Amino acid sequence: MGRGARLARKPAEDSPMPLHLHDTLRREKRLFEPRDPSRVTLYVCGPTVYDYAHIGNARPPVVFDVLVRLLRRTYGADKVIYARNVTDVDDKINAKAAKEGVPIGEVTARYEAAYLADMGLLNVSPPDLAPHVTDYIPAIVDQIQAIVDAGCAYAAEGHVLFDVSSYPAYGALSGRNLDDMIAGARVEVAPYKKNPHDFVLWKPSKDGEPSWPSPWGDGRPGWHIECSAMIERTLGLPIDIHGGGIDLVFPHHENEIAQGVCAHGHAHGEATHDEYARYWMHNGFLTVDAEKMSKSIGNVLLLHDLVQAMPGEVVRWALLSAHYRQPLDWNQGLLDQSKKSLDRLYGALHRSAGVETPDIDPPADFLKSIEDDLNTPGAMAALFALSSEIERGMTAGDLDAVAQARGRLVACASILGVLQADPAAWLEGEVSDVLRAEVETLLEQRAAARAAKDWSEADRIRDRLNALDVIVMDGPTGATWRVKG
Ligand code: AMP
Ligand code: ZN
Repeated sequence: MGRGARLARKPAEDSPMPLHLHDTLRREKRLFEPRDPSRVTLYVCGPTVYDYAHIGNARPPVVFDVLVRLLRRTYGADKVIYARNVTDVDDKINAKAAKEGVPIGEVTARYEAAYLADMGLLNVSPPDLAPHVTDYIPAIVDQIQAIVDAGCAYAAEGHVLFDVSSYPAYGALSGRNLDDMIAGARVEVAPYKKNPHDFVLWKPSKDGEPSWPSPWGDGRPGWHIECSAMIERTLGLPIDIHGGGIDLVFPHHENEIAQGVCAHGHAHGEATHDEYARYWMHNGFLTVDAEKMSKSIGNVLLLHDLVQAMPGEVVRWALLSAHYRQPLDWNQGLLDQSKKSLDRLYGALHRSAGVETPDIDPPADFLKSIEDDLNTPGAMAALFALSSEIERGMTAGDLDAVAQARGRLVACASILGVLQADPAAWLEGEVSDVLRAEVETLLEQRAAARAAKDWSEADRIRDRLNALDVIVMDGPTGATWRVKG
């Protein structure tokens, strides 16, 4: 189904429940109203490409991929601009390159390629824009200069630091106030800082580290400034939605707001947050077997390994099976359940394979869930209801009902980004070629026996299929099969 061909719906009028999103800044669910419905902008903090991503890192791109799919459906495929950056300047990248004795670009190219390939296996559509820090150094320098000119940053010993005391709203996103922060300070105290919470916009590079010229000396940008500068340069301020994992609320996103607002000389104004990003969304954390992932525990699961071991859609389904703001525990039970759920949905599609699939809208219960701050568990329940409708329709021979339910199921699945594989290939996916050939031969013999009304031969063949653990489903276009699971 061509996503681009679909006409944009007008959100406020004909949708049962227009999109509501939980906004971290306002701490409530709000009706989503883009600044300009013909240009909806979204930015999500992307990977630092120094190693393979772990499964927790995969949660934001998958969650926000669902949001982008929903926005494209609502506003039109070409009306949404989604940027996800690539952090290709970082101390960890430098350390890895030094350890391997290779140029930094070799490390970043290798892990970015792996990231994109693994995202592809998760059905994560590529973002419209993937700005790399190394391509935006002049924009970053410009933004730092604007912040300095606004009186919100100062240069000291080759560094440029943001002066947190210059921005009274500092702490609004994370709900921290500067006095508390100072009292409980656990930040790097450096002699050149006026205030321990002042953070780096620019810093000198050591020998052998990547370095660019700037008015404050050769060096490289701090982490936070890359996002605010690339957002301004690629999308323009303010953007509609800014997303990332909950750990980024402080300090990364707090600092982004301070930079983005102060670069425009609004440090002392009231309610200036909206000049940077209008809605802030953060996904909850993923744990593994109820523990935080950590190298010291040895429970860090790499996405790259998981998508070799199982279909990417199983990983995607598992990541979407909890509401995005909730914690999600990754364990074998979750994976088994996810595989079973997809098998059931693919089973319904497979059984009804011969029935045409009309291009229709998802049902109201699905939209109600997904438009309620991306309630993916509720949306998934709607998929199961549709697969049951398909099964009932097939049993009753009501092919009109089957076609309607199929169309709806496919429409829902394209928003969740699942059921994108060929159902037969999915269901037979883990079957060896030898078994597949044997089953196909038996099915041909069975069809011939039935045509010849040789019922005892047909029964004998059925028993052999049973012995192979194969379930045969007779449908309008012939028999299909899968291995019992
Ligand atoms: P990083 O490469 O550490 O900057 O992380 C990339 C993205 O993954 C950020 O949006 C993080 O918030 C997110 N993230 C990191 N760890 C987890 C986790 N365990 N669960 C969910 N999201 C995570
Ligand atoms: Zn960022």
